[in-house]
Amino acid sequence: MNKELLKKEWASLKIDQQPNWPNSFEYDSIIQTLSYYPKIVNEDEIILLKEELKLINQKQSFVIQGGDCAETFSNFNSSSIKNKLEILLQMSAIIQYTSKIPVNIIGRIAGQYIKPRSSQYESRDGLKLPSYRGDGVNSIEFTKDARTPNPQRLLTAYHQSSSAMNLIRSLIMQGYTNINNMKSWEKIFLNNELLEKKYNNIFTQIKETLQFVKASDILQSSGKNIYISHESILLDYDNAFIIENQDKQHFCGSGHMLWVGDRTRNLNSAHVKFASLVENPIGIKIGPNFNIDDINLLCEKINPKNEIGKLTLIVRLGQKNIESMLPKLIEKVKQHGQNVIWFCDPMHGNTIRAKNGYKTRKFETIINEIKLFFQIHNQCKTIPGGIHLELTGDNVTECLGGIKNIQTKDLDLRYETTCDPRLNNEQSLEVAFLIADLLKKESV
Ligand code: PEP
Ligand code: MN
Repeated sequence: MNKELLKKEWASLKIDQQPNWPNSFEYDSIIQTLSYYPKIVNEDEIILLKEELKLINQKQSFVIQGGDCAETFSNFNSSSIKNKLEILLQMSAIIQYTSKIPVNIIGRIAGQYIKPRSSQYESRDGLKLPSYRGDGVNSIEFTKDARTPNPQRLLTAYHQSSSAMNLIRSLIMQGYTNINNMKSWEKIFLNNELLEKKYNNIFTQIKETLQFVKASDILQSSGKNIYISHESILLDYDNAFIIENQDKQHFCGSGHMLWVGDRTRNLNSAHVKFASLVENPIGIKIGPNFNIDDINLLCEKINPKNEIGKLTLIVRLGQKNIESMLPKLIEKVKQHGQNVIWFCDPMHGNTIRAKNGYKTRKFETIINEIKLFFQIHNQCKTIPGGIHLELTGDNVTECLGGIKNIQTKDLDLRYETTCDPRLNNEQSLEVAFLIADLLKKESV
């Protein structure tokens, strides 16, 4: 089936969250152009990721999926990409060395340029304009010009995604993702006495391990793979990157893993259909409005062959709802013998508005949801397979609390996200230590 035929399969269904492009001729021709461009990732890498995901429920792998809520054109530079990779690598080292479970990294990176919105429009002082839908569609400034969807932006999103992927590949080839080159994460501790004190034991342990690894020359040549993912929301864009192999299977070459957001994962949506047509590993966000009775049908639609590694349920129920909903979801999936992987997204069910207007999240709530996620899986005898986080390697002040105890009044200092609030580097490391502990407890 070529791209056009594949499109026929999903395009007859209801497609939510698509921008109103002012000039459909220009839009169509840009999608056409994109379909001739080199793919950002290839079939073999996608298969490799799926193989690694297959190990999760045997406790042979744990995944950290993380990055910005929305990548932006203005923050596109090698140091911000490297900072993000570095924090993900540091987290993976902490978890891997404590729990002894290999950790795979999937970035919310190199493609996370388009966002779903709760409303089509935003009004300010009587002026009503289209909502910001991510830099791939329009610009965040509140002017008519900036907010009008512009398909040229898709070309920029493509170029930035492919050069980010290029940087990632070159870092892997250089050995940057090799454990031996992960020395730099010590810097964070050296700059933060509190963090060092709090985690003194593990810190010493990891230092010794690093020395041991260096001395014994193991892992010398094995650079860690880093995969990329984004929300599959603009289906024309993702469809442009379809690769058909000799066995007539379809792979989406815009990212290794795609996920379907909480707003577009209805049983009969075009997004769910598209996800079922490609071989890529697929994540489905499950929020508090999810109808629990739909879970088996949804799994069947996305993963009709019940393949292990294909479907990940990314639970983002919030601290308030996880205890009442997750056990029921797990039970239903178990009863039907459906193969799924469970990730915890402790961010999106816990967003609040601070008194001074900032959209934020409390670190404590995030931690609580993670603990509950592990506890519930422990009780149900299922496997907590990964964590899905919005984070950055920079020292932003977007989420409240954490080791530096960020207060509402501090949000102003470095609030840089264009969409949802992210954990900063220290808060991210704290989460890594927590998960390392939780996984270690599980294994004893
Ligand atoms: C997101 O991941 O940024 C997002 C919008 O998530 P959800 O679909 O879970 O609301
Ligand atoms: Mn988000």
